Amino acid sequence: MNRSIDDEKLARAHARLLDEIQADARETEFWTGRNKFSAAVMAAMKKVPRHEFVLSGDKEVAYINRPLPIGHGQTISQPYIVALMTDILNLKKTDKVLEIGTGCGYQSAVLAEVAGQVFSIEVVPDLATAARQKLKGLGYDNIEVRHGDGFQGWPEEAPFDAILVTAAPEGVPPALADQLKPGGRMIIPIGTPYSSQILTLVIKQVDGTVKTFNTLPVAFVPMVQGRGEGRQTN
Ligand code: SAH
Repeated sequence: MNRSIDDEKLARAHARLLDEIQADARETEFWTGRNKFSAAVMAAMKKVPRHEFVLSGDKEVAYINRPLPIGHGQTISQPYIVALMTDILNLKKTDKVLEIGTGCGYQSAVLAEVAGQVFSIEVVPDLATAARQKLKGLGYDNIEVRHGDGFQGWPEEAPFDAILVTAAPEGVPPALADQLKPGGRMIIPIGTPYSSQILTLVIKQVDGTVKTFNTLPVAFVPMVQGRGEGRQTN
């Protein structure tokens, strides 16, 4: 039947994407310091169905190594960037992770495959609602999505083993640095809006101070000041 041919095409497009992600990892070693991503991260990239999260009616498009529109002027990140940011956090299956910028929920799903619990904050209420429903429908019961302002973090659930930020502020938001455990890692694009940003690794030291390390130049949507209500809307 047509259906199985479609499934086969989709599986081939997905397999090609995984090869491209590993090729990108090799090409960007100079910036990132790693030339391959862990087996756990690549298994997550293989498992999570990206076509479930994009707007396009053409499912194969979801497996092109590109950012894509998700509505509300926002985008789902490029798969290679999702893999890189997840990998750089060195996550364990017991880790508690905070994500800022849920968007469509794709990155949250990838995190949920390699970590223990994911708490994700989205400033656009409709995106938060849609992502929550999507992730629930796909069976993810270790992800909580809240509509709120990521600059405040999620104090009730802090501290976190790791924090992943998918919108770009001009500096590390102090509340996020506070909510990271000593020894914890945060990956965050830092720079001026609509200009070039640097994907920055922030490591919290045992004395509570942070050390930052520049990795790759990237382009993310700006992190906007939300209303700061920090509460789920439904
Ligand atoms: N991780 C997402 C990428 C979404 S793009 C994915 O996989 O699809 C970045 C997201 O950050 C957008 O949805 C945007 O609305 C959100 N955002 C911007 N500023 C924010 C803030 N202050 N708090 C929470 N989310 C924010």
